[in-house]
Amino acid sequence: MADRKMIPREWVRVTPSPIHGQGLFAVQPIPFAHEIEYTGCLIPASQVNGSRYLFNVNKSLVIDGPVPDNLAGYINHSCRPNCMPSGRGKKVFIMTVRDIRVGEELTYHYGDGYFNSLIRPTGCQCNGCRDPRPEVNVAEEGLYVTMPSGVMIGVKWSHDQREQLKSWFSDPNLLSGG
Ligand SMILES: [Zn+2]
Repeated sequence: MADRKMIPREWVRVTPSPIHGQGLFAVQPIPFAHEIEYTGCLIPASQVNGSRYLFNVNKSLVIDGPVPDNLAGYINHSCRPNCMPSGRGKKVFIMTVRDIRVGEELTYHYGDGYFNSLIRPTGCQCNGCRDPRPEVNVAEEGLYVTMPSGVMIGVKWSHDQREQLKSWFSDPNLLSGG
């Protein structure tokens, strides 16, 4: 696992989302393995009230993290996510699972229980369900194909392929279309 780094606040922006309500979008490219903490109050699961911004830490503890203070609370569900939750002790982070382009919405899978009881009945509006074609993402280290189900297939560039790509992208004639 690569070293994780925090996503600076200036790299993301909250704007209306085609998935649901407001979403969290990249305004800077966000590399793989960058994360944002799901912040809030740690409360016993038995004391959960009507908050919509909850994250189960374990069987007995829940983070109650309302927006706007908890930026990660804006991150919507996707069946084809570009982030995943990852717990460390009693903290929860949402981490990018691939490089994210400017303008992309950050998403993670809310889990089968939540999905089946609260999203499936009204119809999922996520990017994977709206456009069920495989999604291709080219990164510096390789190429990723993400299926609508969220399954990701990765191909690493060989050294030669990588050098070839670098020369293409640094060729000004190619970029200007000349
Ligand atoms: Zn979906």
